[in-house]
Amino acid sequence: MALVNCPECKKRISSKSKSCPHCQLNLVDLTEEDLEKVSLKRKRKTRDQVMSQNYIAVLMVLVGFSYTYWKSPQPESIPYYACMASIMIGCLIYVVNRVRLAFLK
Ligand SMILES: [Zn+2]
Repeated sequence: MALVNCPECKKRISSKSKSCPHCQLNLVDLTEEDLEKVSLKRKRKTRDQVMSQNYIAVLMVLVGFSYTYWKSPQPESIPYYACMASIMIGCLIYVVNRVRLAFLK
């Protein structure tokens, strides 16, 4: 008995199991076409997750920028640092996710 990666969830499973205990993918009679579908589904799911994270990152930048613009917090105060952190972390997440999306294609 060897351990292999499940084609769908990529978790380690026994090579002799008939279905994945983690995602319940039926591993009996799995054709090349089924494997391709599973791979596409997995890529689409990952892309959707990255896009959701990007929306949150953009929201963080907008909230940080808006608060700084309208409320003008005192420099070196806690709200000021919170805004700067929100903008910087949002930008960082956005850039990292753009690179991830480029590699997912
Ligand atoms: Zn699985």
